[in-house]
Amino acid sequence: MASMQKRTIAEPYRIKVVEPLRMTTREYREERIREAGYNTFLLRSEDVYIDLLTDSGTSAMSDNQWAGMMLGDEAYAGSRNFYHLEAAVQEIYGFRYVVPTHQGRAAEHITSQLRIKRGQYVPMNMYFTTTREHVERAGGIFYDCIIDEAHDPQNPHPFKGNVDLAKLDHLVQEKGRDQIAYLSIAPCVNMAGGQPFSMANLREVAAWADRHGIPIIFDATRAVENAYFIQQREPGYEGKPVREILREMMSYGEGCTMSSKKDNLVNIGGFIATNNEQFFTRAKEMVVVFEGLHTYGGLAGRDMEAIARGIYEMVDDLYIASRVRQVEYLGGRLREGGVPIVEPVGGHAVFVDAKRFLPHVPQEEFPAQALAAALYVDSGVRGMERGIVSAGRDPATGEHRRPNLELVRLTVPRRVYTNLHMDVVAESCAALYADRESIRGLKMVYEPPELRFFQARFEPIVP
Ligand SMILES: *Cc1c(COP(=O)(O)O)cnc(C)c1O
Repeated sequence: MASMQKRTIAEPYRIKVVEPLRMTTREYREERIREAGYNTFLLRSEDVYIDLLTDSGTSAMSDNQWAGMMLGDEAYAGSRNFYHLEAAVQEIYGFRYVVPTHQGRAAEHITSQLRIKRGQYVPMNMYFTTTREHVERAGGIFYDCIIDEAHDPQNPHPFKGNVDLAKLDHLVQEKGRDQIAYLSIAPCVNMAGGQPFSMANLREVAAWADRHGIPIIFDATRAVENAYFIQQREPGYEGKPVREILREMMSYGEGCTMSSKKDNLVNIGGFIATNNEQFFTRAKEMVVVFEGLHTYGGLAGRDMEAIARGIYEMVDDLYIASRVRQVEYLGGRLREGGVPIVEPVGGHAVFVDAKRFLPHVPQEEFPAQALAAALYVDSGVRGMERGIVSAGRDPATGEHRRPNLELVRLTVPRRVYTNLHMDVVAESCAALYADRESIRGLKMVYEPPELRFFQARFEPIVP
């Protein structure tokens, strides 16, 4: 491993099919962003040059996955591809029972409805938008148990996804063990900037959870990227295959929900995996109502085959190293351009710190939203807001939640872009930073009641 770190790691694949990108003019983009209400979620993909909106469902599949798509067994019940998926999850994640779902939030919906009693708390290492939404819909209360360092975009802590055990102790003392439904632990915490937890921390959390009889359910969406960081940063794991590290991580949980649109290298899919037979039985009952029979869960047979194959591909050490290093490359280029970013750079995205980028725009004028819109106008690069808009309103008070982190996420799809694309992105951000005084705040003119960031509309504030 020591020699591997010094040398360049090229992509462990070559390009077989290409998809042309469309360049547009600045005037054209100014018109499009106005039509989209200054919300990058409302742009048409055709009008985007380099799309860093999300790494969700945007991966390039391998020839092996595409070949698997032709072997889809589209039977209503008992498709052979389901059994391939089940075997892949059992072998790589190590959980016994598997229920496919059409994507991650469907797995969260079923898990939340079945595992939360009204008024119970669900501690999480920072919130995720859909996860918290489903917890709250089930009558649960989100409780943030991530370490304080995670809320500080400049703190260089190598494991900012770690759980603060004192916060867990505090919750149990205040509310009692029975008021906690389960611990929801996310690897490579998205909202903190893609920050991993350490195995040492996870081991302590698992011991704590065991002592109190509280199960751990992972949001395993980016578990492989977390395993890679453990391999790179944690003593005792140097040179250990990510496949083994992932298996150890998952062994501390009772099960997981999964969005296969991330780590699993597919365009659609997800699953629930668990070792709890009783929960498995109830999840199978419920999936029929909302998704489909428990051997397809809203997916075509061919999709389940692509996930199964993606699960084996994601644990290739060279693949995951080149994936995370491309994100680090983008972070390095931005840093060189003087652009303020969240440190350390995460596993799936670089987060630009809009608070430091636009100190003249107050948080109630949505600085990250305004910056994402300006980036699109400058170069056709699409990122997304992760700040006060994404945080939504507190259901109890109706006030904006005011997160410390006010960020623009530049998310790198897996196996899709080259480092020259990353250079274009970094140059555009640096040019905007040089001219930052010209970027003004926004006012919200339409606000949906749930997950408002997806569809909210804005207008520039004219002084
Ligand atoms: C994407 C994501 C989800 C939700 O999954 P979908 O497939 O988009 O429904 C849940 N948790 C995390 C951390 C995610 O990144």
